Amino acid sequence: MTEITRRDVLGGAALLAAGAAGVAALPHHHPHQHPHPHQHADPDPNQHPHHQHPHHGRGRGPNWDALARRLHGRLLRPGDPGYTAASVPYNRRYAAIRPGGVALCADTADVQTALAWARAYDVPFAARSGGHSYAGYCASRGLVISLAPMRSIRVDRRALTVTLGAGTRNRDLYAGLAGTGVAVPSGRCPTVGVSGLLLGGGFGFSSRHLGLTCDQLLETEVVTASGRALLVSPVEQPDLFWACQGGGGGNFGINTRFTVRATPVGRVAVYRLAWPWRDAGTAVSAMLDLVATAPGRLSCRIGLGVSGGGPATGGSPKRTVTALGLFFGRAEELEGLLAPVLTVARPSEQVVEELSYLAAQAALAHNVPFDRFASRSRFLDQPDVDTAIRWLERWPGSSNPGGAGVTLFAWGGAIARVDPAATAFAHRGQAYLMDSETTWTARDSRRVVAAGLDWLDGMYRALAPRGQAYQNFIDPSLAHWPAAYYGQNLARLIDVKRRYDPDRVFRFPQAVPG
Ligand SMILES: Cc1cc2nc3c(=O)[nH]c(=O)nc-3n(C[C@H](O)[C@H](O)[C@H](O)COP(=O)(O)OP(=O)(O)OC[C@H]3O[C@@H](n4cnc5c(N)ncnc54)[C@H](O)[C@@H]3O)c2cc1C
Repeated sequence: MTEITRRDVLGGAALLAAGAAGVAALPHHHPHQHPHPHQHADPDPNQHPHHQHPHHGRGRGPNWDALARRLHGRLLRPGDPGYTAASVPYNRRYAAIRPGGVALCADTADVQTALAWARAYDVPFAARSGGHSYAGYCASRGLVISLAPMRSIRVDRRALTVTLGAGTRNRDLYAGLAGTGVAVPSGRCPTVGVSGLLLGGGFGFSSRHLGLTCDQLLETEVVTASGRALLVSPVEQPDLFWACQGGGGGNFGINTRFTVRATPVGRVAVYRLAWPWRDAGTAVSAMLDLVATAPGRLSCRIGLGVSGGGPATGGSPKRTVTALGLFFGRAEELEGLLAPVLTVARPSEQVVEELSYLAAQAALAHNVPFDRFASRSRFLDQPDVDTAIRWLERWPGSSNPGGAGVTLFAWGGAIARVDPAATAFAHRGQAYLMDSETTWTARDSRRVVAAGLDWLDGMYRALAPRGQAYQNFIDPSLAHWPAAYYGQNLARLIDVKRRYDPDRVFRFPQAVPG
């Protein structure tokens, strides 16, 4: 089967436009010949002198002016106002990876132009929407193809659909849904991009009731390696559509637009609980017991955290244990569900309130972690709480107020009702997603950073040595990541990759193998 159908949109136009700029006529280098810009991404990329700007020092460099002329949006070069904000990844661990330019794409044609230009000059590139890739895979030393300006949201209440531009972030989505009476399940952090989140799955406080974000996908537009913009749905390019439901951002093309299912919602209830650290074991065990039998209408995030210093940095650590979530129902019913927990472990803080769906998202929103961080995830059925507590009491410390932690997200409910092979997102049957993380800042010494990373690896091995991992908590230090991210769906994803990107134009260290 070929990827070209009668419903191709815009296909030839942008390639011709690129040709008019003199781009298409340039010699084409085979994409495999260029080392990928992310391959050596680490806290100190200066250790890798070959990390230079592409074509730096060569006789004939890429024609940035030609790209700037062809774009409907703007091209930002180093020194231009806005360049740093548009190019630095959310995880500042990778902040030193600076691009030669950022193409601020105004529309699909701009994405096609930028991609054709990068290919013609053999300039490495990365797509970027919200910029929140844990591993900085939205950063590049070549061209950042930024979807950020393509922020749009159109709600069709009759059809119960929402159409989003690829630059839309969670906060835009939630703001756009205000007053419409409908919901789209998405993540907690306001600045995460919907593109990356949806393409790698996407869970939030509504997912046990409404499903993952990728489960809501009805149609998307994808600019593939060939430069064509394809309409992708269950009937048009069905394999690519399947891959876009959890196959991971940056793998198959650049998505420019998503149409997702919306669900009518009324008022909901939220809860936020905190306990003294000495009660951590009792409180978390009680929450796990509750979640084991709770309806899918209840979501739960359990957080064990430490901040403010440790043996490597001095200072006295502050440790916290919290649980929070959303309930699709009345506050009285939620209080009844929580009652057994509150009886065995008395919280030091306790909020249960009924809110509009949008106010609930705001009440639960949080931007974590920030600055520099490393994070490792695992899907599991039985979290080992005592081991987590012991490890958190040994965190070496850093100057980042975000500290370190272990978070458990209750899985199941509507997430588990989808067959693992029905979408590219394979992780359906497990009880929890566990995330473990450590943070630091530029002020911390190499010794402090190394101690934190060693601690994280040790805890990860102790807590969850085997199993699947969340492709959206993408982890550059994960061994066997293809199986961990994609499980039984890996073979079909490789097949889709070979068909839509035979030359591996879209590549980064953890790109789907082809
Ligand atoms: C603070 C924080 C909170 C988070 N909270 C949640 C949460 O509640 N739930 C959850 O499920 N996940 C969460 N995540 C993880 C998040 O889903 C992923 O980091 C996701 O990849 C971010 O998407 P982005 O568009 O912001 O990132 P980007 O870094 O822009 O993109 C991520 C990857 O997708 C590629 N990409 C970007 N745009 C496109 C596009 N339009 N087409 C094709 N490929 C593209 C990039 O090249 C990169 O490889 C969180 C992450 C952070 C840092």
